[in-house]
Amino acid sequence: MSGATTDADSGVENLDPIAISEARFERATDCLDRLHRGLVDFLKHPKRVNLVNFPVEMDDDSVRSFQGFRVVHNRVFGPGKGGIRYHPDVTMEEVVSLAKLMTWKCALLGLPFGGAKGGVVCDPKQLSERELRRITRRFTSELHESLGPFQDIPAPDLYTGAQTMAWIYDTYDMLHPGYNNRAVVTGKPIEMGGALGRHEATGNGCLFATQRFLSRGLIADLQEVAGARVSIQGFGDVGSVAAEAFHRQGAKIVALSDSGGGIFREEGLDPAAVRQFKDEQGRVSGMPGSRAVSNAELLELDCDILLPAALGNQIHAVNAPRIKARLVVEGANNPTTPAADRILQQRGIHLLPDILANAGGVTVSYYEWVQNQVNEQWDYETTTEKMRAKIQGATDTVFNRWQRFVVGEEGEGGEIPDFRTVALVIAIERVAHATLMRGIWP
Ligand code: NAD
Repeated sequence: MSGATTDADSGVENLDPIAISEARFERATDCLDRLHRGLVDFLKHPKRVNLVNFPVEMDDDSVRSFQGFRVVHNRVFGPGKGGIRYHPDVTMEEVVSLAKLMTWKCALLGLPFGGAKGGVVCDPKQLSERELRRITRRFTSELHESLGPFQDIPAPDLYTGAQTMAWIYDTYDMLHPGYNNRAVVTGKPIEMGGALGRHEATGNGCLFATQRFLSRGLIADLQEVAGARVSIQGFGDVGSVAAEAFHRQGAKIVALSDSGGGIFREEGLDPAAVRQFKDEQGRVSGMPGSRAVSNAELLELDCDILLPAALGNQIHAVNAPRIKARLVVEGANNPTTPAADRILQQRGIHLLPDILANAGGVTVSYYEWVQNQVNEQWDYETTTEKMRAKIQGATDTVFNRWQRFVVGEEGEGGEIPDFRTVALVIAIERVAHATLMRGIWP
């Protein structure tokens, strides 16, 4: 799903999600020349791919067929973990590439999970809540044998949320009676075993990674979030929470957007007021005191930090030369294409990659899973502080490893990799090592 970006927007780039994930994987494994090529090849491919077609009765009594996917890429560190997205453009290829991303994300954060992802081809904006419930129940019953707290654990993603997880849990629980099944999904409603702080976790994690990264002093005159000019694309679970978290730390949120377009205010927007406006009007555009900008314009605005938090492939070969931010923080998964990675790197614009910047969500999902095993509920502060420590630790690990390339302790005089490549190097190395230790790959 390339979202609003078409191939024409991004020039001649190949935006096939599998090609993108392979290009990134190869760039990272080029830095890992001691890894056996056969093992590298094994790690490329998903462990299990499910494609299901199922009928659903619609509100007007018609019956429509839907297609859904669930992919487990790797289970070396534990059960598959990853969101389920509902979107008209979702494809199997995209789900495979996102499942791989989850493998590397969990490994980078040191979580005992492998990578998984799912999707249903549908347009949630055109469906009633009853229709969404029936789609979710039917999709779950098609897949239930391969889901489970120790097999594969879904979570919310684009256009799915706590309500979707409650339906999945209920359907799974009916099919597997007599067990504590709460940990079969994360991102549940709080009263059903959801973790306090899960909803805010990804947006908060973006802030924690940014703060830690800036404190390392790599970007001149930008050592903290306070006073930074921030543009955020997407005002959903990730973007709206990130906007409020950065705002609380004294950043100036100069631009925000949703699928209907963006808004700009030189003096800074108040995210809580924008959220209230969106709750009432269903969109951010038209916010009093703001000027309209398109989603494309928003990405190229003059700011310190750009936080794409909507769809994939938003920063690409065509607009990367015009990005004015000094730091890109990937709230969304895969918002930047490989060609854009290179352009940003050449222009000295640093980027905190998705597998680090948006890993707060899966980290708190892990805490939810832990709490569900023993039917406990930690308070918001406990959960958020534990996540902060994890994100800070991972940010330091990536930064310190990057410095080894800078001073020539690694890389033998080759080009200095960007932070995405370094994060992938660490993650792939860990998964490869565990694969060998377990004797999975001979
Ligand atoms: P969401 O459905 O809550 O919000 C998506 C937002 O993007 C909405 O504001 C929507 O209006 C906006 N949007 C949709 N199409 C757009 C377009 N063409 N241009 C600009 N904005 C557009 O989803 P979310 O949970 O906030 O997820 C956003 C991204 O973050 C996704 O890439 C997801 O995979 C990633 N992510 C989410 C989590 C999480 O915990 N929710 C964790 C890690 C990564």
